[in-house]
Amino acid sequence: MAHDVIVVGGGIAGCAAAERLAGQGLNVLLLERGPLAGGATGRNQGGLLPSPLPACGGLFGEAVTFYERAERESEVPFRFRPHGYLLVAADEEGMDRARGHGHALSDAGFPAHEVGPRELRELEPGLAPDLAGAVLVEGAHALHPVLAATALAGRAARAGAEIRTHTPVRGLTTDGDRVTGVVTDDGPLPAGAVVLAAGPWSRSLAQQAGSDVPVFGARGWLLRTAPVTGAVFRHTLMQSTWHGPVGLKRNGPPLLADVAAPAPTATQVVFSLQPLPGGEVVLGSSAGPALQLDDVRDGEEAVALIAAAAARHAPVLAKTPVRAAWSGVRPMSPDGLPVVGPASGAPGLWLLTGYGIDGMPLAPGTARLLTEYLMSGHRPAAAEPFAPERFDEEG
Ligand SMILES: Cc1cc2nc3c(=O)[nH]c(=O)nc-3n(C[C@H](O)[C@H](O)[C@H](O)COP(=O)(O)OP(=O)(O)OC[C@H]3O[C@@H](n4cnc5c(N)ncnc54)[C@H](O)[C@@H]3O)c2cc1C
Repeated sequence: MAHDVIVVGGGIAGCAAAERLAGQGLNVLLLERGPLAGGATGRNQGGLLPSPLPACGGLFGEAVTFYERAERESEVPFRFRPHGYLLVAADEEGMDRARGHGHALSDAGFPAHEVGPRELRELEPGLAPDLAGAVLVEGAHALHPVLAATALAGRAARAGAEIRTHTPVRGLTTDGDRVTGVVTDDGPLPAGAVVLAAGPWSRSLAQQAGSDVPVFGARGWLLRTAPVTGAVFRHTLMQSTWHGPVGLKRNGPPLLADVAAPAPTATQVVFSLQPLPGGEVVLGSSAGPALQLDDVRDGEEAVALIAAAAARHAPVLAKTPVRAAWSGVRPMSPDGLPVVGPASGAPGLWLLTGYGIDGMPLAPGTARLLTEYLMSGHRPAAAEPFAPERFDEEG
């Protein structure tokens, strides 16, 4: 029997889509090549950090309401919680960037105000005494990303969706231009619509149907420490540059020269710290070119840079044991916004990807927009900024 919709990918996007689509009574099958949340979703910091991008503000508020309700109703608690958020600056130049980012956030509806060095030390005594200050931003939240995706998959299953893990999608079936289903190791599976929520791997799948979407991967590394002694961190801390102009979106796919280098050198690192409920902290963040999940050549450099940035901003961490380091690949789009809607030139194929650094707050609302679009055939106005065809002329 043909499914109404096959969703490819069991990260936060695919799980949110399956939940929404099945909730509307559609017959949904989700296929994930590994375990649920085996991609970027299972490797991230779990922050819902306000974004200054105007198209994303409403989706952020929707995500908070959605996760609160899902947490209340879920058999899988995923530790959704409000969280303080500080954009910290080591020097005056960083402080200017933090102010600029704070203004943009305030304009986008997230109040932000400046704190001087003394107030910063009161808020976070574990930070270096010589930091220039910070901007305190309201509205941030945190969650456990693997458990959140698992909880959404559980909701999808309860609404009638079938979730199949360890089932790679090898290709698409087509009839003329139209995408009619997917191919797995067990053969073809027909569907009325196929939703690619396969992170940066969505591009190669879409290309099989003659549709190109310029999503690309940006690898990020994180370190997790043992519980910190000597200080308790209470806020998500982020160097003032992260969402700003030095952010990831100017980076395109890696060039041949990047790939030829013995260790890719294009890695950017900014200090970030996410406190965990047990007193451990997750430290980041890096962004570098990525072609595949296991191409981790930039790890040595990125991990060392992250540790150095953490020691500079929070010297109390220098003697804290490091328990783990790992990386994941963010699905980036050229303009930093998600890609949501029908794939150009391939009827029956839909895209839900390109979340970049903000997948956790953007997935629930974009999954809703995709569901409305798919069911009505009309693009909701709020989905305009995410239209896949905005890239068509770029080639
Ligand atoms: C180090 C790091 C830190 C981050 N921190 C944050 C943060 O604090 N907050 C935040 O909001 N975001 C953060 N992000 C970004 C966030 O992780 C992503 O935006 C989000 O997880 C993207 O979700 P996704 O479902 O689109 O992709 P993914 O989670 O990558 O899911 C795609 C899935 O598709 C599967 N797949 C691929 N090809 C196939 C196939 N052929 N067949 C079947 N399945 C397939 C993959 O196995 C994968 O599970 C971070 C990312 C990284 C790497």
